[in-house]
This record gives sequence, structure tokens and C-alpha cells, in this order.
Amino acid sequence: MNESERSDEDQRSLPFMELPRGIMMRAGALAEVGSVCKRFHLKGTGIIVCDPTTYEVAGREVQRSLDGSGFGIKVIRISGATDRSVEVVKEMVDDASEHFMLGVGGGRPIDVAKYVATLKDLEFISVPTAASHDGIASSRASIEMDGRKKTVQAKAPLAVVADLRVIANSPFKLLASGCADIISNYTAVLDWKLAHRLKDEFFSEYAAALSEMTARLLIERAHDIKPRLEPSVRIVLKALVSSSVAMSIAGTSRPASGSEHMFAHSLDLIAKRPALHGEEAGVGTIMMMYLHGGDWKAIRDALMTIGAPVDAEGLGVTEDEVIRALVDAHSIRPSRYTILGDGLEERAARKVASLTKVINGP
Ligand SMILES: [Zn+2]
Repeated sequence: MNESERSDEDQRSLPFMELPRGIMMRAGALAEVGSVCKRFHLKGTGIIVCDPTTYEVAGREVQRSLDGSGFGIKVIRISGATDRSVEVVKEMVDDASEHFMLGVGGGRPIDVAKYVATLKDLEFISVPTAASHDGIASSRASIEMDGRKKTVQAKAPLAVVADLRVIANSPFKLLASGCADIISNYTAVLDWKLAHRLKDEFFSEYAAALSEMTARLLIERAHDIKPRLEPSVRIVLKALVSSSVAMSIAGTSRPASGSEHMFAHSLDLIAKRPALHGEEAGVGTIMMMYLHGGDWKAIRDALMTIGAPVDAEGLGVTEDEVIRALVDAHSIRPSRYTILGDGLEERAARKVASLTKVINGP
């Protein structure tokens, strides 16, 4: 993802912090979507953005709930978070009437609904069906534009309605990926501090402290994160929301996205079959923590305890792809200064990856 167009200088002058106003986390929450929308005085037609699977898992229930509360409803099933999907969804907004957006899904429908809500200045409700990354409550959207994934500034959801039962029934791999995305806060904050010291980049103590604390609390509870359990989902959701709040306070993704995310985005571009976002960021965190001279073993142990991948094999990518992604990572977003500096030499990349057991051979 490339945010280089937006310099970090801009973030000093952000007019305000945007945060979600309501968060509901409980089993059966889908049935409450209509009443949540009423509570926030939404009017008119709710546009439900989902994909064919998430419609079955949650969209239909959301539709029923909105209907029961007297809202108009339009449903659109998208296949990816692309500029094309954004155009199609935008077409559904009739400027002459009142609308609001609902994103029902793991990632893509939320990104698209959030971005269209931003472009059309509509309210947006996030209804996650999985807890796989921190986009569910954040003010950023990841959209593929001209075939390249980009992270764009967007509005924060007015409310997040998370049904613990639905999320507990989603594949555990997704929840583990969400945990890894949170653990990556550690190196993101180290990179941010480095940029603050070396480049005098804006730094927020509060945002950094919140972000680090979120990762720490999650690691402390790593043993309690188990498949199919609603309390496990609650732990992860709270952490994801808290990470998004840290980003909102900072006015930048810095507290939750550093060199490890640059590695993840680089791997997305290079790998034939990329892994989940959080999984890639987690493996990136192990290696970037090594570069920072920190306790990379503790990161690796926590990821293993949770059941998230810790090496190339676990990610389902080749060792060569890992090395190429490491070498290219710094160029993903040149304006974001990190421990990667002006890039790793290939031999250094091999060393980092093998010392941290991400690849086998030297
Ligand atoms: Zn992330």
C-alpha cells in the first residue's frame, strides 16, 4: 500500500480526531443493527455492502433487522475491494434521498463501504464477520486502485456492531491473523520513535502508549485465545478497536504500521499466493524486532502460542519471495522512515530471515 502522496507533515494539521461513537460486541448483535441505526438517528435507506459469503453469514440478518426498524434497504454483493467495486457501490447512492452505508464482512466490504461513505459524506456502520485486522474500526480503507493496493484516509465508522457468535464461527486463521496485526504494534511504535528522533517526525505519546499497551495485553492473554470461543473473540476485538483508536488519536497509521507492514505490503506484491495481511505483518514483526535489537523471540513465541504463522512455510510463500519482499520493503513507502532505512542488502536480508528462523537456509 502506498500512502507516500500524503506526507507526515500533513498530519500535524489534521483538524480533529475521528473515533467511532458506538461499539456493540455481543452474541446476537446482528439483530440489533436496526436499533443501533435508530439510536444514531439515521434515516432513509441503508446500503448493505457484503460479498456472497458474508451475505449468507450476516448480511441477511442485518437486512432483516433494518427492515424491522423501518429502514429502506439496498444490498450489493461485491467481489473485491477495488476501484471498480467502489464505482458500482457509488452508483447505488441516490443523491436526492437519504442513505447510510453498512459494510458487512471480513475486510473488503468494510473497506468499500467505508470509502464510499467518505466520498459521498454518508454515515457508515461497520459490521465485521471476522476479526482479522484493525480496519474494522479504523479511519482508513485499503482499496485496490489500478491493480495496486492503496491505503486511503477515510471516515471512522459511526458504530461497530460485532456479533461474537458470528466471529467465533469464522475460521480461526482469521482471528489469529487479527492477533498478529495487533502484535505488530510493537515494531510500528519502535519505528515511529526512531523517525521522531532522527527526522523530527510528529510523535504522540498517548497514541504510542495505547498501541503498545494493546499489544502487551494481547500477548499476556495469548493462552486464552482459542478457536470458537466468544470470550477469545472479545479479547481480540477490544484490541483491534483500541489499535484503531490509537491511529485516530495520532492522525496517522504510525502507531500500528511500520517496517513490518511495509514487509507485508511488499510480500503482497511479490508472492504468487500472498497470505493474510495480519499473518504477513506478524512474521514481519519477528524480523523487524531483530533489526531493532529487541526481543524477537518473545514475538515469535506469542505468535506460536496463538497459532499464527512464524515462517515462510506457515505463510505459504517461498523463501525467495520472503527475501525479495525484505529487500524491496523500504521502497513501499519512502516517506515513512523505519529501521529499514534505505533498504536491506540481499545478504543482510538472508541473514535476518534465517537467524529469526523465517527461512531455513542461510
Ligand atoms: Zn495491519
